[in-house]
Amino acid sequence: MNQDSLLKKIEMDTAVSQNGLKRTFSPHIPAGILPISELKALLATLEEEGVEKVKLGGETVFVWPEGESAPPDIEQIIGFTGNNFAFGGVRPVRMCSAETFCKRNQNSVLQLALKLDKLYYGRTLETKVMIGVAGCQRSCSEPATKDIGIIGRPNGYDMLVGGNAGMKPKIAQKFHTAKSEQEVIDIVGKAIDYADIHCKKLLRLGAAIEKRGMDDFLDFVLERL
Ligand code: SF4
Repeated sequence: MNQDSLLKKIEMDTAVSQNGLKRTFSPHIPAGILPISELKALLATLEEEGVEKVKLGGETVFVWPEGESAPPDIEQIIGFTGNNFAFGGVRPVRMCSAETFCKRNQNSVLQLALKLDKLYYGRTLETKVMIGVAGCQRSCSEPATKDIGIIGRPNGYDMLVGGNAGMKPKIAQKFHTAKSEQEVIDIVGKAIDYADIHCKKLLRLGAAIEKRGMDDFLDFVLERL
């Protein structure tokens, strides 16, 4: 199949098969990192289960052929929970390549990203909260376009809030430099609590802060009162 017909076929495909079941499954892979042995096992199992193709980059999504669907017990079969792309809640933490193969990171961020994902991914909220972690100011995971962004710096971690992509993109603002991983973890938890209290379905964290004022947010997350 040439490139044009392949692109046409992909465009024509839909995420739902004729029987109404989903044709896609996106396993939750914390920080997007997987040992090669687990990846091989995952691919072998999914191939046996009929997967036709995979979308890489961002979240990994496996796709079944048109007319077929993912088995209802796919999570048990492959031993991974699925990513939840429903509107509300904390999304999987996005992480750059720091410590996996890039050595430019100015502070350690891999364990931090894994801890943030373990603690906060999947928390139910009315709004969507995306968290981006980058090892240096080059910002390969684009923390400035996330609701909460973290950038490794020689003296700690720059923390950003209020970014998002989508229909009305916003660039996050730096609001704090945390001295330790634990301080980042605590402040991210508070920022999510803030989103839980003040963000309704279509109101992202940045819009809520614009409405209520940055001081209101800082008083809450930095416990300044
Ligand atoms: S943000 Fe910095 S540490 Fe992370 S992958 Fe890019 S250059 Fe490397």
